[in-house]
Amino acid sequence: VSIEVAIIGGGPAGAITAALLARSGREVLVLERAPAWRWRACGVFTSPATVPALQRVGLSSADLAAVAQPITAMRVETPRGQFRLDYRGPAVTGPPVGLDRGRLDPLLLDLARHAGAEVREGAAARSVTLPAGNADLGRVELADGAGIEARVIVGADGVGSIVAQAAAVARRSPLGARIGLTFHVADPEPGAHDARMVLFDDGYVGLAPVPGARLNVGIVLGQRWFAALRREGAGSVAMDVLSRVGSGGGATLGPALDAVAGASPLGGTVRRRAGNGWLLVGDAAGFLDPFTGEGLHRAIVSAELAATAISESLEAAHGSAPAAAQLRAYDPAMRSRFGTKDLVTRVVQAFLARPALFGYAARRLADRDELRDTMAQVIGDLVPARRAFDPRFLGALLRP
Ligand SMILES: Cc1cc2nc3c(=O)[nH]c(=O)nc-3n(C[C@H](O)[C@H](O)[C@H](O)COP(=O)(O)OP(=O)(O)OC[C@H]3O[C@@H](n4cnc5c(N)ncnc54)[C@H](O)[C@@H]3O)c2cc1C
Repeated sequence: VSIEVAIIGGGPAGAITAALLARSGREVLVLERAPAWRWRACGVFTSPATVPALQRVGLSSADLAAVAQPITAMRVETPRGQFRLDYRGPAVTGPPVGLDRGRLDPLLLDLARHAGAEVREGAAARSVTLPAGNADLGRVELADGAGIEARVIVGADGVGSIVAQAAAVARRSPLGARIGLTFHVADPEPGAHDARMVLFDDGYVGLAPVPGARLNVGIVLGQRWFAALRREGAGSVAMDVLSRVGSGGGATLGPALDAVAGASPLGGTVRRRAGNGWLLVGDAAGFLDPFTGEGLHRAIVSAELAATAISESLEAAHGSAPAAAQLRAYDPAMRSRFGTKDLVTRVVQAFLARPALFGYAARRLADRDELRDTMAQVIGDLVPARRAFDPRFLGALLRP
C-alpha cells in the first residue's frame, strides 16, 4: 500500500494534523495502536489559549462545552507560600479548562475522519524506515506484519516516538528521570473552582476539575521516590500523595475512578523535528514538563505548523519525494514559537529544585499582581515567553 501521508499516533497531535491535511485535499492514513480510546498517562489542565485553538481546528462550540470544564484559576501551593494564577490580560478570551480526554480525543479523530482521512484503530506501528539514497518513499511496518509506504511519515506517537528513533534525533529529557502518574477521583465540590498545583519534596501534584464531577490527578515524582514506587507500587504511592495533599476543603480524595496510568520517561527532547520525508508533532516533537509545558496547546499548534509544511512540500514536489526545504522549515518555525518557552520551563524547574528559592518567588508572586499576570500568560502560551526574561519582570520577581 502506498499513501501520501502516514501519521503514527491518533492522539490530539496526530488527529489534528490528519484533519488539516485531509481538508487541504491530501491522502492521509492515521495508525493508532489502541483499538478504542482508553485512559492513559496524559494531561487535562490547559490555559485559555487552548479553547480558541480547538475552535480554530474545527471543534464545535457544543462539543467544546461537553468536553471542557471551566476552571476559575490555578492555585500554586508550596510549603513556603502560595499564589493564584487567574489568567487575566488582553490576550485572554476565556478561562483555563480541564478537559475530558475520553471524549476529546475521539472527537478529534472524528474531525480527521469527516475531513476524509482514513483512521485505523488497533493498528500499531512496529518500525519505520525513512527514505534514504534514491528512495522517495518511507515505510512503516505494522505489528500484524503489513507494510505501508508513504511520501511523508509523521511521528505523533508521543515521547519516545519510533519516527524520532528512526531519524536518530531522540534525546533524553534534560530534567532527569521522573515518573508521571495520572488518574481521576470524584470531585468533592463539582463545577467551576480552582485547580491546584501542590509542590512537595522532589515532586508535585496537579488537581484539575473535569466534566463528569471528576478531579483529574497528575503526579510527577523525581528519583527520590523511585525506591518507594518499586517497593509499594504506583497505585499505593499515588494514594499516599493524595492523602497528604487532601482536597483543600477537608474532604478526603479517592479512590481512583480509573487505572493509575504511568508515564516513564516523563518527557524528552529531539535534536530536529523534520527531515527528508518525516516530521514530528505533539509530544513526539519534544515535551519537557506538565507544570509549565502546556502540552495540549503545543500539540495543536505543532499540528497546524506541520500541516502547512507538509502541504507546501507536497505541492512543491518533483516526482514522489516531497520538497525537502518546505518540510525542514517546520523545525525553525517550532523553535521560534516554543524555544524561549522551553527556556522558561527549565528556569522554573531550577527554582522548583530549590524549595527556598521557589518559596521566595512564590511570596513575591502572591503580592505583585502585574508580575503574576505576566507569569500566568507566559506559562499559558498567551504572550511571547521572552516577556519572562524582560529585565523589568526579573527585577520585580527578584527584588525583596
Ligand atoms: C503525567 C502527565 C501529565 C500531563 N499534564 C498535562 C497538563 O496538565 N496539561 C497539558 O496540556 N499537557 C499535559 N501533559 C501532556 C499532554 O498529555 C500531551 O502533551 C498531549 O497528550 C499531547 O498529545 P500527543 O497527541 O502528542 O500525544 P498522546 O496524547 O500521547 O498520543 C499519542 C498516541 O500515539 C499512540 N501510539 C504510540 N505509539 C504508537 C505506535 N507505535 N503505533 C500506533 N500508535 C501509537 C498512542 O496510543 C496515543 O494514542 C501531561 C503528560 C503527562 C504524561
